Amino acid sequence: MRPSPVSPTVDFDRDGVQHGFLRLPYSRDDSAWGSVMIPICVVRNGKGPTALLTGANHGDEYEGPLALYELARTLDPKDVSGTVIIVPAMNYPAFRAGTRTSPIDKGNMNRAFPGRPDGTVTEKIADYFQRELLPRADIVFDFHSGGRTLDFVPFCAAHILPDKDQEKKAFAAVEAFSAPYSVRMLEIDSVGMYDTAAEEMGKVFVTTELGGGGTSRAETVRIARRGIMNVLCHEGIVNGAVEQERTRWLDMPSGDCFSFAEEDGMIETMIDLGESVEKGAVIARIYPTGRTGQAPQEIRAKMSGLLAARHFPGLVKAGDCVSVLAIELA
Ligand SMILES: [Zn+2]
Repeated sequence: MRPSPVSPTVDFDRDGVQHGFLRLPYSRDDSAWGSVMIPICVVRNGKGPTALLTGANHGDEYEGPLALYELARTLDPKDVSGTVIIVPAMNYPAFRAGTRTSPIDKGNMNRAFPGRPDGTVTEKIADYFQRELLPRADIVFDFHSGGRTLDFVPFCAAHILPDKDQEKKAFAAVEAFSAPYSVRMLEIDSVGMYDTAAEEMGKVFVTTELGGGGTSRAETVRIARRGIMNVLCHEGIVNGAVEQERTRWLDMPSGDCFSFAEEDGMIETMIDLGESVEKGAVIARIYPTGRTGQAPQEIRAKMSGLLAARHFPGLVKAGDCVSVLAIELA
């Protein structure tokens, strides 16, 4: 396969702090020989494990970038044993536009893996992570939140994996993150995900969903900042103690967790995030708005559980994910 067109302005094997770019040539109307300049920070102090930290895999999720720009500004190499690679805005064009996907090619970074060196801008970024950055990492931490269209209870998560040793290390890092909730996560659409690419390479992969709605909250940013330091301390990459807080473990046992709208309309949530429902209870109602006198469509819980995520905007379209339920583990 041809080499990546991305050139880093940092040296991954040099000790100290470097603030630079992943420079990706992008020729266009307003810049014939222009580039996309993706900010990157490398903090290295000798031999040791490598953590690869990313935010804004989706461009409208802010807890990750807020935690990681701050970490890049403040992390002292004296406190590090090994290497911390920080890319606070992985899909940088999407982050700049404040949108989930890239305005250049509509690329969803988390469906673009393994990417292509001769593909679109999003595919070229994915390819660089796949072939250059992921192989360097021992632990991969990718921040997400709900973006404009979803809202979550704040949780850190990892996936159930065939390799139980890899799974155990990931869940131990989730526990160390100490979000209010920790999730054994089920994906509905795992092909092309960064998660899957990292896990198939045998890496310890940890992610989050910390709120949403296309903004951030003081509480969720605090959780993100404390959590990532906890994970780096837990991995022995940063010297310090884990500030362990109580976390409630949730499981997503099957596709019955998810409910989808079958009609367009205006949505009324019947329970709030973190509240529990019994199987069969109405979670949300979708009102047809074209005329009066019509009954709303009822979305009923297919299992008993706690509301872990919900559709955020007031209007909903057929096919939108309305709610995600999870079961609290004793
Ligand atoms: Zn996301």
